[in-house]
Amino acid sequence: MAMQAEERVNLDAICLAAVKRWGPAQLIILLEELAELQQSLVKYLRYGNQYLDDIAEEVADVQIMLHQLTLMLNLSDRISEMREEKLKKLKAILDNDHDSTMGGIHG
Ligand SMILES: [Mg+2]
Repeated sequence: MAMQAEERVNLDAICLAAVKRWGPAQLIILLEELAELQQSLVKYLRYGNQYLDDIAEEVADVQIMLHQLTLMLNLSDRISEMREEKLKKLKAILDNDHDSTMGGIHG
């Protein structure tokens, strides 16, 4: 579901406030959250659907921390350009390779 404009403003304001208060220390939190997401995915693969809530929680944490990283390093425009490029590449792969069972964007 698309994020409403008001929520988006709120996300920016809250993340900016966090970056202003704690600065580069937020990178440590990002790394911690990435590790937690990784762990929740491993648990899902080992034990199944009982870990779906954990995955959702950790994805939310990672999204918030990635937003802070984006604001902290002023990466918004670069990320948008990269995402556009990578989605085009992925689409080209999907359009041209009907036999591949593993997808991805590399490099
Ligand atoms: Mg977490």
